[in-house]
Amino acid sequence: MGRSGLVRVDCAHAFLKPWVRALFAAALLASGRAHAGCIDLPFPDLLPLEALEDADASQALARARLLIGASRHDSATAPLRLAALYAIAAQSSSILELDADARAAAASGLALAPPGDDPVYLSLLATYAETVYDTAGLERETAKLAAAAARQPARSQANVCLLTTLGWLQHRLNQDDLAVGTLTRAYRQSSLANLGRQRALAAEALATVMDGMGDFDRALDLTGETINWEQSQHASQMLSGTRYARGMVLLGKGDYGAALSEFDEVRRLGRQIADHQGVAFADLRICEARIRLGQSAAGRASCEAAQARFAAAGVTQMVKESRALLAHADLDEGRSATALATLNQVLDHHGADIVPRWVPELYELRARANAATHDYRAAYADLLEYVQRARAANEADRARSGSVLRARFRVDYEIERNAALQRELALTRERSDLQRNQLERRTGVLVVGAALILLLSYLLLANRGYRRELQRLATEDSLTRLPNRRRTAELATAALAEAVAGHQPLTIALIDLDHFKLINDACGHAVGDRVLMELAVISRTLLRGGEVLGRWGGEEFLMLLPAQPLDLALARVEALRTAALEIALPQSALAAGLRVSLSAGMATSYEGASSLDEIIARADVALYEAKKHGRNLVRVADESLQASTTAIRRALRAR
Ligand code: GH3
Ligand code: MG
Ligand code: MG
Repeated sequence: MGRSGLVRVDCAHAFLKPWVRALFAAALLASGRAHAGCIDLPFPDLLPLEALEDADASQALARARLLIGASRHDSATAPLRLAALYAIAAQSSSILELDADARAAAASGLALAPPGDDPVYLSLLATYAETVYDTAGLERETAKLAAAAARQPARSQANVCLLTTLGWLQHRLNQDDLAVGTLTRAYRQSSLANLGRQRALAAEALATVMDGMGDFDRALDLTGETINWEQSQHASQMLSGTRYARGMVLLGKGDYGAALSEFDEVRRLGRQIADHQGVAFADLRICEARIRLGQSAAGRASCEAAQARFAAAGVTQMVKESRALLAHADLDEGRSATALATLNQVLDHHGADIVPRWVPELYELRARANAATHDYRAAYADLLEYVQRARAANEADRARSGSVLRARFRVDYEIERNAALQRELALTRERSDLQRNQLERRTGVLVVGAALILLLSYLLLANRGYRRELQRLATEDSLTRLPNRRRTAELATAALAEAVAGHQPLTIALIDLDHFKLINDACGHAVGDRVLMELAVISRTLLRGGEVLGRWGGEEFLMLLPAQPLDLALARVEALRTAALEIALPQSALAAGLRVSLSAGMATSYEGASSLDEIIARADVALYEAKKHGRNLVRVADESLQASTTAIRRALRAR
């Protein structure tokens, strides 16, 4: 016997012939057709009704119909809301195997919902597609679903749901290679987006396809995952469907004991929610599992119950399947003639009205029955039929599984490639992060470095300025900005050295303001300061290259007059004395008979002479002379006079 088993229903072949429709639809019902409410409808008050679909579809359908009846005549109901109610009715009908009703409700809803990306429209689109079985219709609907799915953002609920429905339709079109790819995408996206319900629905669809491919372990994993989710949601209706699918996988795998407990559970759930069709399917599979376990007698009652239920519902194909199983039981129990009679009825159309996949096994079974009744000719003919049909089925299987394997390889390869690309991307990102960090660090170092350099330069420059300032302060008199005493002494020393070296005279004048104390006392210290500053300003206009006026202390100044004869030097000092007379004083001071004047004592270096101190001392003596002789006078030290030429002496004496 092939793994598909005598009475297994293969959904994928059901579209081939209209008469298989009922069988196919029934199988879909029990093998996870319930995509109801995959896409959430945007009406929060309808949420409980949507939840009811999963738990008890008949109740959900009854309520949806009531609401539709009430709303249809109520002009206040928005068309989209009415469309949403139709969506719920369509989904519930679909779960309950009322396909014509489902299609009609979906069509009514689609007439109300504007085509686009609204969840109501997309939900109706999917539900309608699920009610289509003919090849042309399936091709049309898959195209619509694929286009709608492509418009939805990746990992969105709508995208995952549309892909799941698309996968089911591809499976129905016998395109399992495409279905695996589509459903794997839906499954992975729902996992990544944490869409629990949609993941369960995608897993269920994928499990069915995997089962068809003979990948039982993966199918079991997927159904196990779906069952966990459905249990957590108390979605009894969905749960019964998934458990049935899992039972079918276990039957295919040959694990009949486990299959039996699944079907027992499906039966219990079906009774709980009054799903009579569901109970009949459970009975049929309980019977099959028991036959496989060698418990034909115990299984018989279940097959008879299923047969009665399917007969009452007019589902001929399922009646035939039930009878075939009973014949199997009869044969096992030695009632070969009964079995043969039953099988002759089941194969009355030479298997043309039976799902092709399990026809070979029926011939094999009848060969055994014929042999048991000693009709070896008929047994031989049936065996021949079995071999031919089995080979054809196997070849079809092989071709199919070959393409599916290729598809799986492609999917796995794509997943692997994606993972590799992701890794590559992560690596590149890491690398560029590293480079950026390095660059940032380097830039940081550069910026900090540049800032440091700037700061240091600033400090250096500032320091230079500061040092210059310090230097200036150290050498300059703050009030008059003339060289201070220290600096004046330095300049005088240098000038004397130069004079000696150049055999030139250096004349020094010691200058003192007259009665300065009186001016201060009369006009205030500020006026005294101003007089000192004005004298400094005047000196700058009078002095020539190499000549210096320094502040020697208080109201005393020292003038350096290098490289000129004494008479010319005398003229320079006289010019200063005259100019000083122009410095203005307040009227009150003038009224008191005060005016600005200065006295000066001059001394000059001469050949072989003397130190700076000596020259200054002689100038000081001359100054004293000037003061003594009435102030506002310039006096030349005698020794200097003696050192001068006769002409100069004469000129000086003449004053
Ligand atoms: P003499 O003609 O004999 O030199 O009389 P004098 O008053 O100028 O001489 P004295 O030495 O008695 O007084 C000098 C005065 O100069 C005393 C002091 O207050 C004043 N003086 C010294 N330095 C400054 C200064 O920087 N500003 C002002 N306003 N006055 C100063
Ligand atoms: Mg003085
Ligand atoms: Mg004075």
